[in-house]
Amino acid sequence: MHLARWSDVGQLEVADVALVPPAHDEVQIEIGSAGICGSDLHFFRGDFPARMGGTPGHEFGGTVSAVGADVKHVKEGDLVGVEPLLRCGMCPFCISGDYHVCADRAVIGEKHNGGMAQFTIVPGLVAFKAPQGIDSELVALAEPLACSVHGFDKVRLRGHETVFILGAGSIGLTAILAARANGAHTIVLARYPHQQAAARSLGADEVIGEDEAGVARMEELRRARVVDVAVETVGGNGDTLMQAQLIVRPKGKVVVLGVFSGGPVNINPLHLAAREVEIIGSMTYARSEGHADYQIALNIIQDYAEESRCLVTHRFSLDEVNTAFATALDKTSKSIKVQLKPNG
Ligand SMILES: [Zn+2]
Ligand SMILES: [Zn+2]
Repeated sequence: MHLARWSDVGQLEVADVALVPPAHDEVQIEIGSAGICGSDLHFFRGDFPARMGGTPGHEFGGTVSAVGADVKHVKEGDLVGVEPLLRCGMCPFCISGDYHVCADRAVIGEKHNGGMAQFTIVPGLVAFKAPQGIDSELVALAEPLACSVHGFDKVRLRGHETVFILGAGSIGLTAILAARANGAHTIVLARYPHQQAAARSLGADEVIGEDEAGVARMEELRRARVVDVAVETVGGNGDTLMQAQLIVRPKGKVVVLGVFSGGPVNINPLHLAAREVEIIGSMTYARSEGHADYQIALNIIQDYAEESRCLVTHRFSLDEVNTAFATALDKTSKSIKVQLKPNG
C-alpha cells in the first residue's frame, strides 16, 4: 500500500509499504478522503518540526477494511470517521470524557501515522460509524466541525442567540453549521470573496467583509449590543481576539478556536471586567458529559450534507500530495478544504 510521509521540511514522499493487520482492539481503514488542515501547513512550512517518516492527516474518512477481534461497534465495509485523539484512557480527565486535556494526549497524523495513505490503522475507540447519506469527503469535514461543536457546547449556545464568527477558513465556515444546528443567528466576518460565497452557501444569516462597510457594520453591531457569542477562528498574531472582545454585548462570551502561534496578543482587561465579558479557550473535542462532539459533528454533516459539499474545493491523488499542500498554502488558489483521495 502507498502512504505519504515527511521526508524533509516542505516535502512529502510517497512510499510503498506492507499492509499490516489490525491488533485486537484496532481498526484498519481504507481511506476515502483525507483533508489538509492549517496545522498540517505549519509542519509543511517548518513552523513546527514534522516527524520525519511520519504520515500526516487527522481529518479523514474511509471504509473499514479489517477489525481486531475485540472490536464490535464497527465492521468491515462500514464507512467511518476518526476522532484523531489518542490518550492514556486512565487519568481523571480521560475517565470523565475530557481526554482532550489528557497529559498523554497525542494526535493521529502527528505522533501516530494518519490518514494520508491508502490504509491506516487506529484504535477502535476513535472510529465512529458514519450516519447514512454521507460519503468519505463529507465525513472528513467532521473533524474541523467538531472543534466548533465543542466551543459552542462550552458556552452553552442557545437557539435565540446571535453568534459573530471572526474568520472564514475551514474552522470559521464549519462553525456556521454548528451554530445553525443550535438554531442560532449567524454573522460571519470573511476576508476573501470566495470565503464570503462559501459562508452564504452554508447558510450564514449575514456575511460581512473587511472593507469600510464591514467595519461600519461591526461598529453598529457593537453599539446595538446584539452579539451574544463571538468566535475567534483566525489565530496567528492578529488583533482578532480584541475585535471579538469588543463586539460582544455586556456579559457576552468569546470562544477562542484560532491557533495563536505568534505569541501573546492584546486584550483590554478593564473593558473585559467592566462589561463582564468572558473569554473561553476551546481545544479540539471531547466527550464531556457523555456526548461526543465528534459524533454530533457527524450528525450535523448529515443534516447539512448538501451545503457542506462547497467546503471541499480541491481534490488530489496521493501522488500529488506536494501539489495538494502547495495549493492549500497558496492564498490565490481560493482553496477552502483541499483533500487527498488516496485510493483514487
Ligand atoms: Zn485540523
Ligand atoms: Zn489521560
